[in-house]
Amino acid sequence: MRLHRLAAVLAALALAAAPATAALGGERNDRRVPLGRQVLPASDGWAAAAPGTTGGSAASKENVFVVHDRAGLIAALGGDNATNKNNSTPKIIYVSGTINGFEGPDGSLLTCDDLADPEYDFAAYLATYDPAVWGRVAPSGPLEQARVRSVQNQTRQTQINVGPNTTIIGLRGAKLTGLTLMLDGANNTIVRNLTFTDAHDCFPAWSPTDGATGSWNSQFDMMSVRRSTNVWVDHNSFSDGDNPDSAQPIYFGRPYQVHDGALDITHTSDLVTVSYNRFSHHDKTMLIGSTDNPASGDPGRLRVTLHHNVFDTVLQRLPRVRFGQVDIYNNLYRVPSPDGFSYAWGVGVQSAIYAENNFFVLGAGVAPDTVIHDWGGTVITERGTWVRAGRGLARPANLLAAYNAVNDPDLGADAGWSPVLRHGSVLPTWAVPLVVDLLAGAGKIHI
Ligand code: CA
Ligand code: CA
Repeated sequence: MRLHRLAAVLAALALAAAPATAALGGERNDRRVPLGRQVLPASDGWAAAAPGTTGGSAASKENVFVVHDRAGLIAALGGDNATNKNNSTPKIIYVSGTINGFEGPDGSLLTCDDLADPEYDFAAYLATYDPAVWGRVAPSGPLEQARVRSVQNQTRQTQINVGPNTTIIGLRGAKLTGLTLMLDGANNTIVRNLTFTDAHDCFPAWSPTDGATGSWNSQFDMMSVRRSTNVWVDHNSFSDGDNPDSAQPIYFGRPYQVHDGALDITHTSDLVTVSYNRFSHHDKTMLIGSTDNPASGDPGRLRVTLHHNVFDTVLQRLPRVRFGQVDIYNNLYRVPSPDGFSYAWGVGVQSAIYAENNFFVLGAGVAPDTVIHDWGGTVITERGTWVRAGRGLARPANLLAAYNAVNDPDLGADAGWSPVLRHGSVLPTWAVPLVVDLLAGAGKIHI
């Protein structure tokens, strides 16, 4: 009871005044600075490493925009979606209302059929590549080529390319749906206060050798960070919205997966801070590093900080890490049911996760040893975890010990580094559920 009351007081304090939250994990930005001009606070995670993350804060007045639709967003990002990734002019873009990636030239929504290549026929695709007919080898030939061309059509339409030195801010209620915000080579970029939903792929690929029985895979994340350094992703919400995986059909005995990542950070990206976001109702949530190949350029990079995020009813990759030194502190995880849940922390090749003071709410039947999964890694540092299991009381827990008790070989307990870039103090774990639940996600910062 006393703990509850303390947490409530802390949470109320945190809500009452952003600049007064020093005790709760750091002073935030001064409210007198317009949101678009705010920069990542000093020491606030890996994105604060030199030269820091300022986004488009230095934009001249003519490079401050309010956009209401896809065309307006592309215009603000430089004018041409095919070349906008190279536009490094400092720019501040406020998003108003809902922008849908399927908006056509006249603003009406295109359908998947509109984006399909003339040679693509899904019924024929199913008939041709059925493992019972085609065998368990990768699809090839004219139909698969037509599918690939269709994906390219969709990429040109629903992938919105962002260049360096950009700040994108959602105004109250702003939503990006049916699109991928692509930060590829977008050094020094800030994305805040947006609600992302349902970046669905119209043309999923059948991958017959992915897993024991094959899988349907999609290409479009809600947000992708590639070849980008110094990126701050703050106070956004990510979910599948009104298009949940559970509504998709089954083909070849496998769910037709039209979604890929919520926020994937890959291809030599580095120095990223992911703070106060809310990830809910989604499967593959956050991939940090997409290949085990050390020649990828990823070793020594993929350094990411995750703090004060909510992971609610998401099934895997929370995150899955390769190579990177990844600091995961003060996050709230809610796994209400074992149905579909795969794992939270993916310990991949040469990964170095440092997890501190995270809080897990595990529903009945969710075994603590399933929180960690070994994807070819060897170590994870874990400190200060608390778990509330079922209807039990919240209590300190050691998820690594739980993992090691039922798996061999064991994972080591020392990832070999300690985070230095943290802004303010780390919350006591017992306070995480109330404080983080109140502060994380879009619609929680002062506009
Ligand atoms: Ca992805
Ligand atoms: Ca063991």
